[in-house]
Amino acid sequence: MRLGCPVTGFMPGKREAPRNNTAMIDTDFLTRLLVDLVGMESVNPDLVPGGRGEAAIARYVADFLRRAGFDTRLQEVAPGRFNAIGFLPGKGRGHSLMLNGHLDTVGVAGMDDPFAARIEGDRLFGRGAQDMKGGLAAALAAGATLGKESSLSGDLIIAAVADEEFRSLGTRALLNEGIKADSAIVMEPTGLEVAIAHKGFAWASVETLGRAAHGSRPEEGLDSIAFMGRVLKEIEDLQKRLAAHPPHPLLGHGSVHASLISGGQELSSYPQRCRLDLERRLLPGEDGQNFEQEIEEILSRLSAQDGRFQSSHELEYWAAPLQTSRESRIARAREGDRPSGRIRCPGFLDRRRPAERGRH
Ligand SMILES: [Zn+2]
Repeated sequence: MRLGCPVTGFMPGKREAPRNNTAMIDTDFLTRLLVDLVGMESVNPDLVPGGRGEAAIARYVADFLRRAGFDTRLQEVAPGRFNAIGFLPGKGRGHSLMLNGHLDTVGVAGMDDPFAARIEGDRLFGRGAQDMKGGLAAALAAGATLGKESSLSGDLIIAAVADEEFRSLGTRALLNEGIKADSAIVMEPTGLEVAIAHKGFAWASVETLGRAAHGSRPEEGLDSIAFMGRVLKEIEDLQKRLAAHPPHPLLGHGSVHASLISGGQELSSYPQRCRLDLERRLLPGEDGQNFEQEIEEILSRLSAQDGRFQSSHELEYWAAPLQTSRESRIARAREGDRPSGRIRCPGFLDRRRPAERGRH
């Protein structure tokens, strides 16, 4: 088991943890921890083929938490892909809290020396420094502070999860095993604001069916790409309708856009098939079935307009939006010193998953 980091040689647990007060977490300790985390390549291999994934960094985090006084375990969520989970039992019957952060990062295209954790002034640069090894380091430092002399009455769980950047395998596996808490904080970068809402998303595909024929025989051919042009026009109209709805107070509007398109087989013939991949961003109250219904309405309208129009569609994947009540304990715990009107996050986060199973 690797204890130290190849970049700095920093050994988690060697240093005496600060006393039980978050104000006592020192910047130097936190910085060295973050340098170590950034130094461990953990590019998501499902996102970028060849990425090393989370195995090494999960072992590091589990070992850090064990030395900090947590009960720890590694959970394999896919071959070679691990969550690191630390559990600090409360001393009473208080609410439990999960701090959730992901171990994986996106790729490093265009970056020079992405794992070197360059420090300039009060900023640290490197792949994942912000999203979200910085948040993870903060949780680990808090865990090290609390682990030695915790007086928390409720349980504290630190969940460092795999695969947030692709399909959230890590947090799904966590929850499927019944590892949950009354409240959860996902430590994604939000400019230090509390974010209580984010959009969900849905991915779907549409295929239009034409009839392959030589380009010189228009009476025999049907153009599946031209059919898809009609679908695209409808998608534009759907986007206009979504943008005209009253906005959600924190998240604005739902949206839809075309992402990928392919079709045809050669220059001199009518295209047999055309495929379009679409993404819809969802507001609280919407789900993947809403999007599927919108697509079905579009396709049946086009089919009614032209008997030759043939298509199929599939809802590929969707992830739900989230809105936590402003009145929840977890939102009130931090909201007091921040303007409440800006607490939202435009993207999708793993936060949705703990919320599906917890009370807040
Ligand atoms: Zn992230």
